[in-house]
Amino acid sequence: MKTQLLDANKAEDIQAAGEILRSGGLVAIPTETVYGLAANALDGKSVEKIFKAKGRPQDNPLIVHIAAEEDITPLVQLFPETAKRLAKAYWPGPLTMILPKSEKIPPQVSAGLDTVAIRFPSHPAAQAVIHAAGVPLAAPSANLSGKPSPTTAAHVLEDMDGKIEAVLDGGSCAVGVESTVVTLAQTPPRLLRPGGITLDQLRAVLGRVDLDPAVMNPLQAGAKVSSPGMKYKHYSPKANVVIVDAPFEAYCQYVNSHKEPGVAALCYSGEDSALQVPAICYGEETDYAQQARELFDALRKLDDDLKAKTVYARCPQPEDVGLAVYNRLIRAAGFEVIHLE
Ligand code: AMP
Ligand code: MG
Repeated sequence: MKTQLLDANKAEDIQAAGEILRSGGLVAIPTETVYGLAANALDGKSVEKIFKAKGRPQDNPLIVHIAAEEDITPLVQLFPETAKRLAKAYWPGPLTMILPKSEKIPPQVSAGLDTVAIRFPSHPAAQAVIHAAGVPLAAPSANLSGKPSPTTAAHVLEDMDGKIEAVLDGGSCAVGVESTVVTLAQTPPRLLRPGGITLDQLRAVLGRVDLDPAVMNPLQAGAKVSSPGMKYKHYSPKANVVIVDAPFEAYCQYVNSHKEPGVAALCYSGEDSALQVPAICYGEETDYAQQARELFDALRKLDDDLKAKTVYARCPQPEDVGLAVYNRLIRAAGFEVIHLE
């Protein structure tokens, strides 16, 4: 299949994307979080193509994207007061809510669960494509399963060229990590995946919100999984990533005493000059939003530009949007952390 490159700034390309989606094809679309691989969410056969193109495990459910708050109503059993308050505060935006699903949601979308994940993205091109398609769009991140999520159209093409009908190029994604996922299908609500909307922002609207243990920790064998996506090794470059939890001096010493071929560093902006190995920076130490925006591109560069075999990464602070950065990087590292004084 030849993958068409469409331009998100051209009205006729938005219409072309809508047409492909209406007729059952796949289009990678820009959103404010990462690029999504979209299909008609109401058609199980179209949705199956997403799993095939990504190599995604069948038991990992998809997020359904809508372009108006009221479009949630037919997709869920009920739209509770708590969800309405969250929607008022943070929709459109990088927040996904999980609710009991209606019979309109095909089993392929929810991977057999009785709940569905819904998001109203703020990116104008994402909204325009949903309108053009005339249906809600199921869209996981547009990467091959296991690889870092794509934050540019070029990243999408690296993984999906020849496998999908089109990529709609809308430039770089503003948030850079996937949406915050909160489940309202249980009480108290629970944060399943951190993202651009923080735990404090959720608590400001909902009061008590629990943090799922899988956000920070590896899943214990046999434990019940609230969010199937947490089970899988994720966001991984080919290189072996190791997080070094240490003050900067100790980090530098550690990295510089390991300067062997294939060793690289993933550090904060400006720190590379103190390191004696090739390094990629992923934002200022105190700017969590910038770290989120740059992380996935940095992970891809470690493979593609540096051909790194082992990467020693600075440890993100697990607070505010930094919690999302920590959650992604610790999975990229397969939970391998070295602690130094
Ligand atoms: P992605 O779209 O690739 O960012 O992945 C979607 C994430 O949302 C995965 O981590 C899923 O496990 C999670 N998710 C989607 N639907 C549900 C659901 N019904 N219950 C729990 N988690 C869900
Ligand atoms: Mg994903």
